[in-house]
Amino acid sequence: MTRRTLAGALLAGVVACATGDPERGTSPPPTGVVSPPPPLPITTWVDLENGTMPLVLIAPHGGDLTPTDLPDRTCAGCVTVNDANTRALALAIATAFDVRVNRRPFLVVNRLQRRKFDGNRDLVEATGGHLPLEPFWNLYQSRIDSAVAGARRVHPRALVIDLHGHGHAVPRLEIGYLTSAASLRLADGLLGPLVAQSSIGGLHRAAVSGDSGVVLLRGPRALGTRFRTLGVPAVPSDVDPAPLVDQDYFNGGYNTSRRGSTTGGAVDAIQIETHYAGVRDTPESRFAFAEAFVTALLAYLQDHYGWRPI
Ligand SMILES: [Zn+2]
Repeated sequence: MTRRTLAGALLAGVVACATGDPERGTSPPPTGVVSPPPPLPITTWVDLENGTMPLVLIAPHGGDLTPTDLPDRTCAGCVTVNDANTRALALAIATAFDVRVNRRPFLVVNRLQRRKFDGNRDLVEATGGHLPLEPFWNLYQSRIDSAVAGARRVHPRALVIDLHGHGHAVPRLEIGYLTSAASLRLADGLLGPLVAQSSIGGLHRAAVSGDSGVVLLRGPRALGTRFRTLGVPAVPSDVDPAPLVDQDYFNGGYNTSRRGSTTGGAVDAIQIETHYAGVRDTPESRFAFAEAFVTALLAYLQDHYGWRPI
């Protein structure tokens, strides 16, 4: 249901109740007694900032709004815990780009708390099956679509970063390309061909650097290696090529799958799961990580996308 049809349905219901049914002889209630419910303010639940570089930054799990007219998501297996401070982290990163190079990424930020809406799930799980939220899910996705289209107007090839926070035991970034931990543990010769089906499969075929396959995941110009050399541990990277068998690892979710280049195309997507301490726990940590993020992504975009700020 679109927002327009939802509003129409709400309006139709209100009109029917307010005017009564003359064929049954009922009378309308006194004017002013029944007020129509206000429309859901869905446009205030997602922020979209247009950018000036071929980078889209999504923060789906850092919202803090809990409208009382929205039920809590109670679906079986649904995660309702926020990724603490990731909205603030995304905003710090955007500011850091602005200050450093006078360019800003496209920014899409879900403002709803995760127990109300999950910005990294398909429609049913995102809304917990609460149908009135469907227009918001559509709006949220269209905001991401708009951001991606805008990024591609800046440069022919664009990158989506889906920003998260994890609580796993090892304090390191988990860089997700939709490649499983078990696959990452394979020998280079076996892992290499699988990169074609990863969320940077298009980059694997067309990187300006000429890097492809395993080199894109843990070579010297891989994103994880860029962060590692800046003092932020990351997996996969040159010194930490794969999670060990007993280590937790997120390899990407709905946004990465929907926006990535698993079947080719000009838009790649990478999920970055951040640890807490030293990255997003304090304003000082967020500032420092944002500086590293800008350095790493500017190198990455120049190396593999052939884009740099003029
Ligand atoms: Zn998350």
